[in-house]
Amino acid sequence: MIDEKGILFILSGPSGVGKGTIRKALFDKSTNLRYSISMTTRAPREGEENGVDYFFKSREEFERLIQENQLIEHAEYVGNYYGTPKAYVEQTLDEGKDVFLEIEVQGALQVKRNFPQGVFIFLIPPSLKELKDRIVNRGTESEEKVNNRLTAAKDEIDMMDAYDYVVVNDEIDSAVNKIQAIVASEHCKRERVAKQYKQALEADQS
Ligand code: 5GP
Repeated sequence: MIDEKGILFILSGPSGVGKGTIRKALFDKSTNLRYSISMTTRAPREGEENGVDYFFKSREEFERLIQENQLIEHAEYVGNYYGTPKAYVEQTLDEGKDVFLEIEVQGALQVKRNFPQGVFIFLIPPSLKELKDRIVNRGTESEEKVNNRLTAAKDEIDMMDAYDYVVVNDEIDSAVNKIQAIVASEHCKRERVAKQYKQALEADQS
């Protein structure tokens, strides 16, 4: 058996784009990806289970996790903490299994700093694609409104620069298929495959 680490996939994107829906649809299909369950201080919603949807923590517990350096990243979002447990991610990758994170953009930027070898997928709303055309062509908006919209769109587009792939969330199935295609492509990358073959040949010779 070739000793190869798993790949870390990070799905992120602007708030309200539907990251959670896409992640659930992806994991409803059969997948070899391991979902990293996040820690949060927000209260469980109806039907949510501790250790399934999130690890629900008090603020004190969460702050202790931060201090003890037990999180790869964390962010405060709408008054609550969210964070990714370091031990689970590192152990699972070491076992050669792929790990999948679904997190907001500030956290994704932190992961990028600590795991630059991760595969970063940016989910965008379909409207973003049309936004510029609409803003420029419509001509009915006041100059201030046009500028506000352009600034907001530009901020979202600027965030894309840190990512490897962009998936438009126009339809759940199509977005999920694209993510699966990205996972498959990453496993076919020449650098990964060549390394594995070389290691296998070396192992045979020894
Ligand atoms: P919700 O409260 O609706 O489950 O999630 C709110 C936001 O937090 C979503 O954008 C979700 O992607 C993000 N989120 C969930 N887990 C984490 C995490 O571990 N770290 C960060 N930075 N964001 C997270």
